Amino acid sequence: MSARPDLLQTGPMMAMIEAQLNEHFTVHRLDAPDAEAVLAEIGPHIRAAATGVGSTGGGARRVTDALMARLPALEIVANFGVGYDSVDAEAAGRRGIVVTNTPGVLDDEVADLTVGLVLSTIRQLPQAERYLRAGKWPSGAFPLTATLRDRTIGIVGMGRIGKAIAQRLEGFGRPIAYHSRRPVEGVPYRHYPDLLGLARDVDVLIVIVPGGPETNHMINAEVLAALGPTGSLINVARGSVVDEEALIKALQQGTIASAGLDVFANEPHVPEALIALDNVVLLPHVASATHLTRNAMGQLVVDNLTAWFSGRPPLTPVPETPVKTPA
Ligand code: NDP
Repeated sequence: MSARPDLLQTGPMMAMIEAQLNEHFTVHRLDAPDAEAVLAEIGPHIRAAATGVGSTGGGARRVTDALMARLPALEIVANFGVGYDSVDAEAAGRRGIVVTNTPGVLDDEVADLTVGLVLSTIRQLPQAERYLRAGKWPSGAFPLTATLRDRTIGIVGMGRIGKAIAQRLEGFGRPIAYHSRRPVEGVPYRHYPDLLGLARDVDVLIVIVPGGPETNHMINAEVLAALGPTGSLINVARGSVVDEEALIKALQQGTIASAGLDVFANEPHVPEALIALDNVVLLPHVASATHLTRNAMGQLVVDNLTAWFSGRPPLTPVPETPVKTPA
């Protein structure tokens, strides 16, 4: 690698990432109190950015077109996470800036968690545990719950993670169908080109599409009504994909039976109205949050950056941005 390039870190990241960034780059923090001064003074020299909302619980700033406009020497943005809605990738592409994400290394972990969330939601595992801890068991058994045994499963998004979820759920012996814009070759499940049609035909709807404008509020009041009063919504994608107000209403009014949510519209803030409901299972965006998987993701962030500044192509560029070799 050439002399240490200037890198902008948009928020807190894992210690193993920060240690390696400091080793290879001159790091400037966008979450420092003097960030504006840093941008004004160092902005023109910044050649790399490391970002990722949620890498340690929030606090990172989005890499917007306006921010990139202040970084005229920016070559690469390395995002922690396979979802890169924290970066305006289209704008980066127009500006000739490469964006990388962390695909593949988290698929199994997120799929495992999703299966746990499906069972927790339908069999009410957290509610049952709360019941026991509250000392209610001696006064009577926990009420009977819904079951997966009579349910059909719908998956919205049949990409890397959607497939890993489906493979696991096959073991439960229930019918599986999915929605995505294009059918996926080689998967044995029924494809629905129409999301409403899928919602109407299944009892459990698992959402695992990317965030961003194209999927914003794609799970809306109409989809929830189609899912129906015995239906469960599981969202492990992004909070933006679900119209949260419509979901709260649907849960309050019994339009759907239950929901399991790992992601929210305004993280880390979760609406009181959701917390007050007993027919939801709420997780603080932990689908990939294990030591093993987060370390693999962190290493991929660093490896993309060091590859680039060693004159090699980035390892995992996103489709919107050009893959080229650095100057
Ligand atoms: P992939 O890119 O492999 O798959 C995305 C899938 O979504 C494809 O099947 C794609 O099919 C479908 N899709 C994309 N846009 C739309 C649309 N507008 N309408 C319908 N379907 C759509 O992504 P991954 O499986 O690797 O990851 C999916 C997302 O999961 C990530 O972007 C991230 O936001 C989220 N995630 C959440 C985590 C968490 O902690 N809760 C952890 C990891 C990921 P097609 O293009 O044919 O429509």
